[in-house]
Amino acid sequence: MLNGVVVKAYNSYYYIQTGDKLISCSLRGRIKKERFSLLVGDEVTYSLVGPEKGVIEEILPRRNMLKRPMLANVDQVILTFAAVNPDINPSLIDRFLVIAEHSQLDIIICINKLDLADGDTITELLDRYRSIGYPILTVSAKTGQNINALRALLFDKISVLAGPSGAGKSTILNAVQPGLELVTGEVSSKIGRGKHTTRFAELLPLAGGGFVVDTPGFSYTEFQELPSPELAFCFPEIVQYASGCKFTTCLHFKEPQCAVKQAVDDGKIHTDRYQSYIEILTEINENKKGF
Ligand code: GDP
Ligand code: ZN
Repeated sequence: MLNGVVVKAYNSYYYIQTGDKLISCSLRGRIKKERFSLLVGDEVTYSLVGPEKGVIEEILPRRNMLKRPMLANVDQVILTFAAVNPDINPSLIDRFLVIAEHSQLDIIICINKLDLADGDTITELLDRYRSIGYPILTVSAKTGQNINALRALLFDKISVLAGPSGAGKSTILNAVQPGLELVTGEVSSKIGRGKHTTRFAELLPLAGGGFVVDTPGFSYTEFQELPSPELAFCFPEIVQYASGCKFTTCLHFKEPQCAVKQAVDDGKIHTDRYQSYIEILTEINENKKGF
């Protein structure tokens, strides 16, 4: 029996990568064909029935599951933003961070287009996120600056890139591994890919080991699924102070004796971060009223 990772699902066939070969596999009958019973990213055991054909015998326990795109066993998300063009937007960073935290993935913040940026202008912003504990990597997909460091972070893991359109996610992946040839550039030229909305994501194998997901992760609709009491857990620095609040149900908004608001007043939590928290909390509550 062999072990492998499902990298692609298509027409009830599942594909397993071994070296530079793709083994096309069917499912052993006793594996229940429930919805989501087998996902791209799942580790399986399989037996070969031909040189490039196999049968999946067993699905190994899943470490986690991501909903958008639907994937199993993603290790980390590289949240990618451009330093300029489009200009970096802290409120947008906070929104992507919330979704990534809610998915319980390891997070790396990657700032791209360093070749266009005056380093000093983003220093304060990067310090803000560094002080919360997020690892930060600044790169230029264009000049190749720090792409080696990014490649090292992707080694032996399943990674998904997320972030706003135009940040350079596809260009970065092409720089990490020439030959991937992902479509880059104007949003309009990518719409061709967007048409296949039912298409499942694929894992692209990296030369040194590990995989990257071929489509960006997350979407904004995920805020609708986030219950307001869980939002605070998506802000590590709020979690750090929340145990000092008078009420265990404190949403750190209008409640009295709130240790989080005190930490904001004392300059221990950045006011912009608290502002993002309140904005998203308000949106979640307004959404609820709509139902
Ligand atoms: P995506 O939507 O996040 O996948 O972004 P793309 O990879 O399609 O890149 C958007 C645009 O930014 C393209 O025109 C790229 O050529 C450009 N771009 C990507 N990375 C860099 C970079 O490091 N420096 C510069 N100057 N432009 C970049
Ligand atoms: Zn509080």
